[in-house]
Amino acid sequence: MFQFEKALTKLEQQHLSRALIPLDSESSTVARRNGRELLLFCTNNYLGLANHPKLKAAAISAIQARGVGAGASRLISGHSDLNDDLEAKVARFKSAESALVFSSGYMTNIGAIGSIAQKEDLILADRLNHASLVVGCRLSGGRFRVYAHKDMTQLRRLLSNRKTIQNVLIVTDGIFSMDGDIAPLPEILALAEEYDASIYLDDAHATGVLGVHGGGTCDHFKLSSSRIIQMGTFSKACGGFGGFIAGKGALKQYLINKAPSFIYTTALPPGVLATALAALELIEAEGSLRKGLWKNRAYFCERAAQLGFDTLASETPIVPLCIGSSEKAVDFSKRLFEDGIYIPPIRPPTVPEGTSRLRVTLTAAHTKCQIDFLLSRLEKIGKDLRVI
Ligand code: PMP
Repeated sequence: MFQFEKALTKLEQQHLSRALIPLDSESSTVARRNGRELLLFCTNNYLGLANHPKLKAAAISAIQARGVGAGASRLISGHSDLNDDLEAKVARFKSAESALVFSSGYMTNIGAIGSIAQKEDLILADRLNHASLVVGCRLSGGRFRVYAHKDMTQLRRLLSNRKTIQNVLIVTDGIFSMDGDIAPLPEILALAEEYDASIYLDDAHATGVLGVHGGGTCDHFKLSSSRIIQMGTFSKACGGFGGFIAGKGALKQYLINKAPSFIYTTALPPGVLATALAALELIEAEGSLRKGLWKNRAYFCERAAQLGFDTLASETPIVPLCIGSSEKAVDFSKRLFEDGIYIPPIRPPTVPEGTSRLRVTLTAAHTKCQIDFLLSRLEKIGKDLRVI
């Protein structure tokens, strides 16, 4: 028989056990637990859209007009004009020929990569890629090689060793979710052109955050190429739920025919589609949200570094505070929680051994006063625990 209790005790002893904490969230930055208020510095709600009145109104009116569920998968009867409208919007937003919406970012990655790369193909992936990318790469059955984080010399070597392999897919996060740094996309694209490879870019954290128009990593670097398959989510800066691929028209048709996580699941509900559409419209119209996000990020990051925290190579609103041992990271997080701040510790296997951290995420909705309060608690606890 399976010994779940034994496995759980082991996790506990290693300070690696995880638990669910129920929170009632009334705003983008404050949640309630057992009647107590907690400041949130751990969400992906970068622009504060999860509670935006325009998104709520879009969801409510779609539900009133069309109901709460799609009733079937897209290829049966779950496809509607809302899907078409959203996909046309995503394609324009990402400056791509076309787009295809999936149920979530996770489902996008496992379904798209898994069906793009075949057994005889080669996948080259950054070591710090998100777990869903790793699952997608494994599901594909293709040969899968990992290069050290952002190591372009190793990537070149792997590309030049491809021998007779025809199709190569380079898989990378745009913004790395645990370190907050940005993939060197111009260099990756130059290598992809030299060695005739394609790129699968996970822009889950970059969509709405990076670039003059919030278009993501391509927008940030002012790049456009039909070699780049752009993946994104509506679950982070867009404040809602769902995932997508943007790329060539033929890719869309291919995925409709081949991606199991697209074909065999119920279409997203109308309220969710309408929310995503409203979010993209808002992101395009209100650049001030993104400006506020980056202002908050700069303010926090500068002061956290002055206090002596190691923020790794963060370049974005994801700011890791590297603590080291899992035990200390758990202690730090508990002390913050007692002071009314919620930042769960991030530990192996999500991050490499010895790099357990508090992953602070800033949003446009945080006030200076909230950030100052966080900084004051970080200073006090950091000194108590001899982290700074
Ligand atoms: N890619 C990355 C880089 C992510 O961080 C996440 C979510 N944590 C996903 C994909 C999955 O997206 P979703 O939450 O929409 O399933």
